[in-house]
Amino acid sequence: MPKIADLLAAGRTLSFEFSAPRDPEGERRLARTLFRLSALQPSFMSVTYGAGGTSRGPTPEIVRQIIGLGVTGMPHLTCVSHTREEIRALLDAYAAMGVENLLALHGDLPPGTTEVPAGHFTRAIDLVALARVRTDWSIGVAAHPEGHPKAADAASDLEHHAQKLAAADFAITQFFFRAEYYERFVEAMAKRGVRTPVIAGIMPPTNVEGIGRMAEQNGTEYPREIVARLEAAGEDVDARRAIATDEATRLGEALLAAGAPGLHLYTMNFSEPARTIARNLGLA
Ligand code: FAD
Repeated sequence: MPKIADLLAAGRTLSFEFSAPRDPEGERRLARTLFRLSALQPSFMSVTYGAGGTSRGPTPEIVRQIIGLGVTGMPHLTCVSHTREEIRALLDAYAAMGVENLLALHGDLPPGTTEVPAGHFTRAIDLVALARVRTDWSIGVAAHPEGHPKAADAASDLEHHAQKLAAADFAITQFFFRAEYYERFVEAMAKRGVRTPVIAGIMPPTNVEGIGRMAEQNGTEYPREIVARLEAAGEDVDARRAIATDEATRLGEALLAAGAPGLHLYTMNFSEPARTIARNLGLA
């Protein structure tokens, strides 16, 4: 399997993100989506791990399905609530599957918990360090161009990111809707001497309320003009999808023009609008 750092060095990447399905219908839909999007020959496809309360168990199996489709599969791995031994065992299991890329995350503490248990990982960078000792993989980390919601202030947030990105081979951003946040973030890293490639994460805003909730949790600005366009479409699903595709395409164009080394589409396990956006951008 190619390493993402090498793919980035060779040219622009296109990638898709998926998460564990919640029921048998979701499993069937995900299998169809993986099949359809694999036909676009993306650079890689990634699978979340326990994100938003989904279970962690299915991630390796979905990565295996992706590899079976001839696409580079990258697991996300959150180290919160894991011991070092558990992480080592997971890395070994992925190595046996042929995985050579990892998105190393801290993750969020389980609801109702405020302290990381003694001896557990406190930062994603600790997982990067462990994975470096155990593997020779390409290792990515999360970036939050509008700042992490738990950051005390913008300056400490940028320092936190600079340290983390310097330890990684690439970063993938949280979704955002204005290209200038991405540009400012990359500039701020460069000012600190950090030139790790930052792949831009794009979320097509198909679901007005759902995206609004996620944006609020992540501290992402959800521009009023996009919300107004979507609301004006009312319950017309096709019209909303067309607006979401259009907004995501325009953002993708702006990001590519700004020099983004790759685009990562959050699919929500649907093949559309990701397929159309990738084609619009000439990346498929
Ligand atoms: P780190 O940067 O190491 O942060 C560790 C801890 O420090 C965090 O828990 C947080 O409380 C705190 N912190 C973070 N930034 C700051 C700061 N600037 N100042 C002060 N404190 C800070 N979550 C999942 O559960 N599963 C997934 O699969 C997943 N995939 C993701 C993919 C991408 C591309 C992105 C951008 C995020 C993803 N997340 C996922 C969310 C991620 O786990 C959260 O953003 C989490 O809050 C922090 O994880 P981190 O890896 O950024 O940790």
